[in-house]
Amino acid sequence: MSNALVAVMPGPGVDGRPRPCELRELPLPDLEPDSALLKVELSEVCGTDVHLRDGRLSGVPYPIIPGHVSVGTLERIRGTVHDVRGRPFAEGDRVTFLDVHRTCHACWYCLVARASTRCPHRKVYGITYGIADGLTGGWAEYIYLKPGVHCIRLHGVASELYMAGGCSLPTALHAVERGEVALADTVLVLGSGPVGLSTIGFSILRGAGRVLCIGAPDERLEHARCMGAEDVLNFTRHTPSDRIVWVLQHTEGRGTDVTIECTGAPAAVTEAMQYTRDAGRVVVVGQYTDHGDTSFNPHWDLNRKHLDVRGCWGSDYSHFHRAIEMLRTPRAAALWSGLKLERYTLSQVNEALAQVASGRTVKALVVPTT
Ligand SMILES: [Zn+2]
Ligand SMILES: [Zn+2]
Repeated sequence: MSNALVAVMPGPGVDGRPRPCELRELPLPDLEPDSALLKVELSEVCGTDVHLRDGRLSGVPYPIIPGHVSVGTLERIRGTVHDVRGRPFAEGDRVTFLDVHRTCHACWYCLVARASTRCPHRKVYGITYGIADGLTGGWAEYIYLKPGVHCIRLHGVASELYMAGGCSLPTALHAVERGEVALADTVLVLGSGPVGLSTIGFSILRGAGRVLCIGAPDERLEHARCMGAEDVLNFTRHTPSDRIVWVLQHTEGRGTDVTIECTGAPAAVTEAMQYTRDAGRVVVVGQYTDHGDTSFNPHWDLNRKHLDVRGCWGSDYSHFHRAIEMLRTPRAAALWSGLKLERYTLSQVNEALAQVASGRTVKALVVPTT
């Protein structure tokens, strides 16, 4: 065995027509000191992969192997790879890894602003690494874990349970932290895709008194209920003013304490501000790519409300680490274990992308076979 089968995204779509992904064989790497080869068990297809297919992200070195969050087994290690407690990993260990590589912990953003997710040196597996960098995405039989990649033990957490959340886990954990969800808060989650569903779960676990969700379609909203949402509303069947009335009816006329936007639709940001109570908090985590402008009234929607609106970009090691620690608890495992998984092989990734783009899947996984 000297090659790995991979699904390659050759380039962004042209004139709205996506270029299909193709199967290729790429050579296995010569391992550098303190690096490893991961045999992929599961990867995933998320909204970011649809943006990549459609050429909506900047700085992407096509052709790439998508799949930024994955689980697998350490097949070969050269030198030593440690966990954060200083314990070495062994060949055969089942792990995931922080998809962000080369955060420098030396620049102004890392050291002064303490905003390492804005470090200009960071590279992300499956997004800003391409095949020129080697086996750097999860839609593949193997991933090359370069020196400095942070591996994380799954302990007893089943691979499927972890990947039921997948990349939405660190994103959602970061978002509820940014929202400072407090005991007994009423939290409104906009969007019922994977990030929205995980945000519901983490809001509950953080002590929210009630969680509401506005999203679509109905099947995803059923999952929102299973994740702990007390009530849900399908936005496709209600006008914006109906939705505000619905939120006010659930909050004694005040609006929600915290609203977390996980939709990708610019107008949802303004709506999030309007659904939130005076002096409440809004977190914007769904605007990962440029879908255009939106407008709001600075007096009514922001200043007079004494509102706190926060962006939330990327994730760091702590979000991955604590997401797994949470999944080790039975109450968290019970939430994510109910999500419906759909599996696709490497030859089916185009179909998987189409399904994810349509919003019909709850969670799409990639199994690295043909
Ligand atoms: Zn930095
Ligand atoms: Zn993702």
